[in-house]
Amino acid sequence: MVSRVIPVDPFDLVIFGGTGDLARRKILPGLYRRFWDGQMPRDAHVIGAARTAQDDAGYRQFVREAIETFVAPDKRDAETIEAFLAMVRYVAVDATGTEGWDTLAAMVRPDTIHAFYFSVSPSLFGGIAERLHGHGIATPDARIVVEKPFGHDLASARELNATLAHSFDEHQIYRIDHYLGKETVQNLMAVRFANVLFEPLWNAQYVDHVQITVAETVGVEGRGAYYDKSGAMRDMVQNHLMQLLCLIAMEPPSRFEPDAVRDEKLKVIRALDPVAPGDIVRGQYRGRDDEPGYLEAAENPDSTTESFVAMKVHVSNWRWAGTPFYMRTGKRLRARVSEIAVVFKDPPHSIFGEDGKRRGNVLAIRLQPDEGMTMRVTIKEPGPGGMRLVEVPLDMSFAEALGEHAADMPDAYERLIMDVIRGNQTLFMRGDEVEAAWAWTDPVIAGWESRGDRPLPYDPGGAGPEDALMLLHRDGRRWREIEG
Ligand code: NAP
Repeated sequence: MVSRVIPVDPFDLVIFGGTGDLARRKILPGLYRRFWDGQMPRDAHVIGAARTAQDDAGYRQFVREAIETFVAPDKRDAETIEAFLAMVRYVAVDATGTEGWDTLAAMVRPDTIHAFYFSVSPSLFGGIAERLHGHGIATPDARIVVEKPFGHDLASARELNATLAHSFDEHQIYRIDHYLGKETVQNLMAVRFANVLFEPLWNAQYVDHVQITVAETVGVEGRGAYYDKSGAMRDMVQNHLMQLLCLIAMEPPSRFEPDAVRDEKLKVIRALDPVAPGDIVRGQYRGRDDEPGYLEAAENPDSTTESFVAMKVHVSNWRWAGTPFYMRTGKRLRARVSEIAVVFKDPPHSIFGEDGKRRGNVLAIRLQPDEGMTMRVTIKEPGPGGMRLVEVPLDMSFAEALGEHAADMPDAYERLIMDVIRGNQTLFMRGDEVEAAWAWTDPVIAGWESRGDRPLPYDPGGAGPEDALMLLHRDGRRWREIEG
């Protein structure tokens, strides 16, 4: 299979926060990889913008180090790096002041695509939007890319949407959720809507339940104080897990176009029932040996912020009535894995007696560590000895299907940035979607706060608190193993 790279048009991309961690680890190496693959044209400009005073040469050194650190050796050579760096520029601007804005205005070329990546603290989004508008830098076709978190609750998300709307139309705003940029997530839509096989079964009649798991092995060290203001519900469920749930549960859009897809996702969020207090479990990891527990890492011994959450969710519509969606995410768990499992019902009758019972198919969609899909099917165990059944995976692993090209798959950030340049918002969240997700999340958090609920402690290296297992056990189901 040959990978096809379609080059994008020339562009000017300004990265506010161009000296920050996200720019260094993801955005700049990602752009370089697109350049290496021939997708990024040689007359593009990448302009780093931050307060630090430095010249182009200083910033190019920063970019070079980012490439050398985060790009695999087989995708870089001195000549390509030099050619890429020739497109890189720097401007010192203050998002809250006046410095640098006229210089930036003079740097962006009038007749090219303009994209402005807000890779800074959300408190600076409004100031940057206002100044881009005020200095006439943003043309009506300019795009802004907005990082997470998009608000802290419904009120702040609304305020942020309103602030951005002062200077930009919705069609110019690209709210990033990098989960949507993953190959598997898009493949999920291809599997659902480009085959006749799955969609007829994709409903409450045939699907017993759905599991969505995003497990991390790391704790909150280094960003404990920041995380403590957020927690798993805000940091992961409101955005990433919610987006995955939407893609599984949504109706087929009439076209693979931004508003058609986003309209369907919005309907799912609006169809979510409020979560009953008994259907949600929160946890906080304990310390082990010399590894600090959550409370120590967050430097807040009284913290009630959760590092783990598991819940049962209902999508109240004709398609899904009676099929629960179980979601869980947490830190310091057994393995780093993101996975969606669509668990189909058992066959209605077993002609093979006991052996044929409880043989539901499972479609497992894995986002990390190895992106791919497997379908669990039941077959006859090969060989003599009568009819014995065995479950085997039908593997749709991309690595195998794509062979040597598997390593060339762009990562989520670089794919999404190219979509921004192409002006394609399909994989970005619309303002009303984000607000609807907060409108569902807020009462859950408010409930914890009003009841004074405390998260349950759990040991690192496992699957979270025991009560999270019970959430499924009591329904006669079980979580899939968390394994990398
Ligand atoms: P960071 O490492 O703290 O970098 C912040 C950047 O903003 C620096 O380049 C800083 O440079 C610049 N900056 C700060 N104040 C400024 C001002 N007044 N005017 C202009 N520039 C200013 O942050 P980060 O980790 O890269 O995160 C950036 C954004 O991405 C945040 O919204 C974060 O939530 C989001 N995000 C980050 C990650 C990640 O892995 N890092 C993942 C997901 C989302 P100067 O100090 O030189 O101004």
